[in-house]
Amino acid sequence: MIPAQFEYARPASVDEVLTLLRDKEGEAKVLSGGYSLLPLMKLRLAQPGLLVDLRDVRGLDTILETDDDLRIGARATHRQVHEHSIVADRYPFIAEVAGGIGDPQVRNWGTIGGSVAHADPASDWPAAMLADGTRIVCRGLGGERVVPAREFFLGPFSTAIEPTELLVEVRFTRRARSVGGAYTKLERRAGDFATVGAATVLALTDGRIASAGIGITGVNDTPFAATEAEAALVGKAPSEEAFRAAGEAAAGMAHPVSDVRGSAVYKRAMVAEMTVRSLRRAADRALRFA
Ligand SMILES: Cc1cc2nc3c(=O)[nH]c(=O)nc-3n(C[C@H](O)[C@H](O)[C@H](O)COP(=O)(O)OP(=O)(O)OC[C@H]3O[C@@H](n4cnc5c(N)ncnc54)[C@H](O)[C@@H]3O)c2cc1C
Repeated sequence: MIPAQFEYARPASVDEVLTLLRDKEGEAKVLSGGYSLLPLMKLRLAQPGLLVDLRDVRGLDTILETDDDLRIGARATHRQVHEHSIVADRYPFIAEVAGGIGDPQVRNWGTIGGSVAHADPASDWPAAMLADGTRIVCRGLGGERVVPAREFFLGPFSTAIEPTELLVEVRFTRRARSVGGAYTKLERRAGDFATVGAATVLALTDGRIASAGIGITGVNDTPFAATEAEAALVGKAPSEEAFRAAGEAAAGMAHPVSDVRGSAVYKRAMVAEMTVRSLRRAADRALRFA
C-alpha cells in the first residue's frame, strides 16, 4: 500500500503545468482531488514519475453561466457543483448528479475534471455529459480544443485528452426552461458507484419531444449514449408507452457482465427501468415550463 517513488511539483499556473507535462511527456500525471489516482498509485497500478499537483493553480474551480453554457472549472469539487446557487436553481439535474457521487468525503475532495479525465466505466458525470451534449475543454501549450462528450470517452479509463494536455473546463448546455433533465442512479448502498445510472434530457415543443439525450453508465466498458432510445422518442408525446419503448431500446444497447453488483440479466432490466424513471422526471421538469 505504499506508492513507488515519484517526484512532486506544485505549479502555480496552467502554463507551468503544461510545461511540466510537455517536458515529462508520458511520465507525468496531474493530481486533482487524488481520490482515484492515489489509490491506484498505492496499489501500484499507476506509477507516474512526476505528480503535478493542481491545488495551487488559481481559477480552475470557477463556476459561471454564459449566454450559451454553464462552465465548470476542472478543479471544482463535486460538493462545490452541488451547492452552487446557479446549479441548484437552474440545473437541478446537474445538482442531482453531483449530490449522488460517493459520500460527503468523496464529494469534498473529488473534482469534476478528475472524474471526467479518469473515465471510470461506472462514474456518474460521463452519463450526464453524454445526455446533455456537454463540451470538454482540453488545453495544451499550443492552445485549446473543445471536444464534444460523445467524442471524448473512448473506452475504460481512456479519453481524448492528450498526455500533454490539461482538462480545464466542462461546458454544459444552457437550456430553456422547457427542457428537463434527470439522473437516476441505482446503487447497492448509499455512496456506492452506480450499478446502473441513467441521465436523460428532454426538450418539448408543442407537447412533443423535439430532442432527447440519454447517457447510461455502469453497464458497458464505457458510459454510452443510448442513441437508439433517443431516436425512438423524437416526435412522440412524452407518455409512459414512449418511455417504456425507449427504456427497452437503451437496454438493447447495454452489454453488462455479471459481477458483485448483479447478474447481466438483472442489470439489463435495470437499464430499461432506470431510463424510464429518469425520463418521467425529466418530462415532469420540462412540462412545468412548456
Ligand atoms: C470511496 C469512493 C467512492 C466513489 N464513488 C463515486 C461515485 O459514486 N460516482 C462517481 O462518479 N465517482 C465516484 N468516486 C470517484 C470520485 O468521484 C473521484 O473523485 C473521481 O473519479 C476522480 O476525481 P479526482 O479529482 O479525485 O481525480 P484524481 O484522482 O486526482 O485524478 C484522476 C485521474 O484524472 C487525471 N486528472 C485529474 N484532473 C485532471 C485534469 N484537470 N486534466 C487532465 N487529467 C486530470 C489524473 O492524472 C488521474 O489520472 C468514488 C471514489 C471513492 C474513493
